[in-house]
Amino acid sequence: MSDELRIWHPFTHPTLDPDPIRIERAEGVHLYTSDGRQLIDAISSWWVNIHGHAHPRIAAAIAEQARTLEHVIFAGVTHGPAACLASRLRRVVPAGLDHVFFSDNGSTAVEVAVKMALQYWKNRGDARRQRIVALEHAYHGDTAGTMSLSADSPFTDAFASMRFPVLRAHSAYCHRCPVGKEWGSCEIDCLDRLEQLLQERSDEIAAVIVEPLLQGAGGMIVHPPAFLEGAARLAREHGVLLIADEVLTGFGRTGTMFACERAGVTPDILCLSKGLTGGFMPFAATLCSDRVHDAFAGPDRTHTFFHGHSYAGNPMGCAAAVASLNVFETEPVFERIARIESIHRERLPLLASHATVGDIRTIGTVAAVELETGDHGYLSDVRPKLYRYFIDHGVLLRPLGNVIYILPPYVIRPEELHHVYDTVNDAIAFVTR
Ligand code: PMP
Repeated sequence: MSDELRIWHPFTHPTLDPDPIRIERAEGVHLYTSDGRQLIDAISSWWVNIHGHAHPRIAAAIAEQARTLEHVIFAGVTHGPAACLASRLRRVVPAGLDHVFFSDNGSTAVEVAVKMALQYWKNRGDARRQRIVALEHAYHGDTAGTMSLSADSPFTDAFASMRFPVLRAHSAYCHRCPVGKEWGSCEIDCLDRLEQLLQERSDEIAAVIVEPLLQGAGGMIVHPPAFLEGAARLAREHGVLLIADEVLTGFGRTGTMFACERAGVTPDILCLSKGLTGGFMPFAATLCSDRVHDAFAGPDRTHTFFHGHSYAGNPMGCAAAVASLNVFETEPVFERIARIESIHRERLPLLASHATVGDIRTIGTVAAVELETGDHGYLSDVRPKLYRYFIDHGVLLRPLGNVIYILPPYVIRPEELHHVYDTVNDAIAFVTR
């Protein structure tokens, strides 16, 4: 018997995947392994890190908070770090979102949003509105509720019995257009399905949920802003709530603080996590408008929102988030983002010269290359070969099946990002020769 438990890692096959890489420490964009290697973290450690690993000011804020008030129940209790974060978030989120509910990861931020939307209608006496519309290729998390919202995939296959039914609208996946149109010459015809659902069934629909402008785990699919604008308009016209899952896109990922800004959209409910703490702490926030919150007010105690996690409002999470927002104010974060965007625009088109590249797409700090491998999807055979190649060449990239994407911390230096591109270029040549 081994003297330690064997750790079961997420998204890792015990037989087919290589042993986990042991990381000793990290700084900036670099991960340092216990056997003396250095890796560029070109996926921001599952998209959470924005200002670089071990940023000293965020680390100091957490340490200071741990010495003062590490945690306290958040039901019937509040504290300075939460108040401070609420006022700091107010300055950056789209106007019209006046309430914030704290939880502890991206999936819970979305679960909270959906439960808020369902109870909103129930509290208003319209209990028929219990359906959610989600998009094809969506990914909203790994809990039962968020798996239900997510599209069918190898991530959800084994759990059909746990998933509640949702209504499915088209995604603006231009490379594989669901309505057979051409990018640039269409009228965002893929919105028709959403429009039809809302026209025919809006009296059953509580909310529409979107990953604004960028569907992440579904394949780094970039949507035209007009799709988000249109979805928001349709939801508004039909009186249905709009939930924006900005767990991935929030905090500068798509070039603006929030992706919704790029389409001039304010959702009724906004989900944040990942970059919220700069990538330091499991922490999340679900924000909502007065309209939503007001449905929970009044004399009826059954209207209480009965949802809460033990670590809700964790003071260290709040302190990390405040420190991360301070970094936005004191360091040239948006200049860094613009620098990444311009390298993506310069280097990404060059990859299209490989015969196997079917599509390239970019938004803000994110760039993706979709390979035509004949077996597209997360379980594409090319994926393990690419992953191995990247690790062997000092870059942590985890392709989503046949989609290679680059999503670095904003502090990546130009020469480091060029190195990532060189490695991607060589890897495509290597695995598809
Ligand atoms: N929503 C989106 C858009 C995401 O990308 C993710 C995570 N990749 C989640 C929700 C779930 O977040 P978490 O992994 O923190 O539960």
